[in-house]
Amino acid sequence: MNLNTITTVKRPANADEIAGWQAGDAWLAGGTWLFSEPQPATHTLIDLEQLGWPSLQVTPGGLEIAATCRIMEIYRLESPAEWAAGPLLRECCNALLASFKIWNAATVGGNLCMSLPAGAMISMVTALEGTLTLWPRNGAPRVVSALDFVTGNHRNILQAGELLRSIHLPATALTKRYAFRRASLVKLGRSAALLIGTCGSDGQLLITITASTVQPVQLGFAGIPTAEELRRAIASAIPDDEYFDDVNGLPDYRRHLTYYFAEQIRVELAQSGSKA
Ligand SMILES: Cc1cc2nc3c(=O)[nH]c(=O)nc-3n(C[C@H](O)[C@H](O)[C@H](O)COP(=O)(O)OP(=O)(O)OC[C@H]3O[C@@H](n4cnc5c(N)ncnc54)[C@H](O)[C@@H]3O)c2cc1C
Repeated sequence: MNLNTITTVKRPANADEIAGWQAGDAWLAGGTWLFSEPQPATHTLIDLEQLGWPSLQVTPGGLEIAATCRIMEIYRLESPAEWAAGPLLRECCNALLASFKIWNAATVGGNLCMSLPAGAMISMVTALEGTLTLWPRNGAPRVVSALDFVTGNHRNILQAGELLRSIHLPATALTKRYAFRRASLVKLGRSAALLIGTCGSDGQLLITITASTVQPVQLGFAGIPTAEELRRAIASAIPDDEYFDDVNGLPDYRRHLTYYFAEQIRVELAQSGSKA
């Protein structure tokens, strides 16, 4: 849609060109959300496209993802064979309610910064133990755990004008076995619950719960827990009245899916050699 409150569009070649920040300024990434509804409080868009950040860099240490990387580029990435969790990247792309237009335009950074419970790029980077590099407008860059980034429905830790620059996924997480479970009320709809388990050669299990809660919840176990231990861990991390409630699923339904999928993941990853 046309945004008739916009009076200025800036296209910096370098983020440092944007020294000050005013109420009404907004970073523009793929624009799939910004142009999907009126933005009465926004008068200036600052387009990130000209910054020319390389989208994806595979290194011995893992994967560097520019915030401006399109979701389609993640989908098309050919992962190194030793990344047992490589296919998880594509599974998360498929977990967005997305027409082909959104897939081709939406960015990984935009998805994180939207901070919606159904943000599948959030599920991906938290499950894979990602860290995010943030560029404040005036101050030194800071690196934060992806797990600490989202603080609520459409809320995160970004300060005014702070830019998400990149995401690092460590090779130590990408080489883990994984199990993925997701439910949506309609085919290609927004997720009601999305759970990812990862298990390394040390036997440690991580279960990341997203979409059924407003922010990611991660449970860590030194080994594969019993079914009862897992249920107790979920109950202690997520009080029954804290499941997300919107048109994509009632809280009781999301709670049921969370326990059901977590148990399936536990059983799948307990089987040696699964997805290894
Ligand atoms: C039909 C439809 C279906 C959708 N389905 C889903 C879904 O299933 N799950 C979901 O999570 N979202 C969904 N969305 C919302 C949105 O399209 C996605 O979250 C998308 O990934 C946003 O990325 P973008 O690059 O288009 O962001 P933009 O629309 O460009 O920006 C989104 C917000 O993030 C800010 N921003 C963007 N990049 C940065 C950055 N690097 N640093 C700081 N701030 C930044 C912008 O200022 C803006 O506030 C949907 C939208 C539509 C229209």
